[in-house]
Amino acid sequence: MKAIISHDIDHITVSEHLFRDVILPKYFMRMHIELLSGKISAHEYMLRWSDILKNKWQNIDELITFNNINKVPSSFFVAVNKGVGLNYSNEAAAVWIEQMLSRKCELALHGIEYDKADLIQSEFQLFHQLTNQQQFGIRMHYVRNTNNTYQMLAKAGYTYDSTEHAFKNPYKIGNMWEFPFQIMDGWIIENYKSWQSINFEKAKENTIKLIDKAADMNLKYLGIDFHDRYFSHSFKTWLNWYMWLVEYLKNNGIDFVNFNDAIMELESES
Ligand SMILES: [Zn+2]
Repeated sequence: MKAIISHDIDHITVSEHLFRDVILPKYFMRMHIELLSGKISAHEYMLRWSDILKNKWQNIDELITFNNINKVPSSFFVAVNKGVGLNYSNEAAAVWIEQMLSRKCELALHGIEYDKADLIQSEFQLFHQLTNQQQFGIRMHYVRNTNNTYQMLAKAGYTYDSTEHAFKNPYKIGNMWEFPFQIMDGWIIENYKSWQSINFEKAKENTIKLIDKAADMNLKYLGIDFHDRYFSHSFKTWLNWYMWLVEYLKNNGIDFVNFNDAIMELESES
């Protein structure tokens, strides 16, 4: 089994949310619950405020550097439309797209349109125009999908999708590879709540169970979704969890590949 780690870009600044969505009130509620329930320290709580003053809710540079040191290929999903608490502009995204491409990261779309073929098609075109990439994949924001989403994505021309959450090997829909993923940072650390509801030890224990399940099922690839936003001391459990996970996989002889490497492997087998 190899691991494919990827990162969804949901936020760039704090101010992009002002008067546009309810992300900020939710953020305040969440940090107070976490402080009062002892899940975060006073120091971490203060750092959350300092992120607001710095107007910084992304950690892309820091994450690429960490990944490079650990030989983890950086694979990103960046949005070009707004929706469901995602409110950064194309101009703001362009700065990071340039950075990702210049640092040889794998770049794909964080999709907003999931249920109308014409909108899916125009989102594909827009990403193509903004990134100058010919071939790229997609993961839907909030993994939204209907019975027809994957068919429509394949038709639009995506090389791969990684929206499905399932313990399954990659499979083809038309010319598109679907890469089901198994581990999402939020599902582990929030554990069915809207705030951090378990501690680091429990998070590790639950993660190992999922890795063992994937190994027992002989999955070729273990799909992991970690948001760059949490690669920060303001989210200490999340940061520690990600650093521990990379180390754990390395110690267990699991290599890291990106989606395009995996597609090459899959297509050379068949
Ligand atoms: Zn997202």
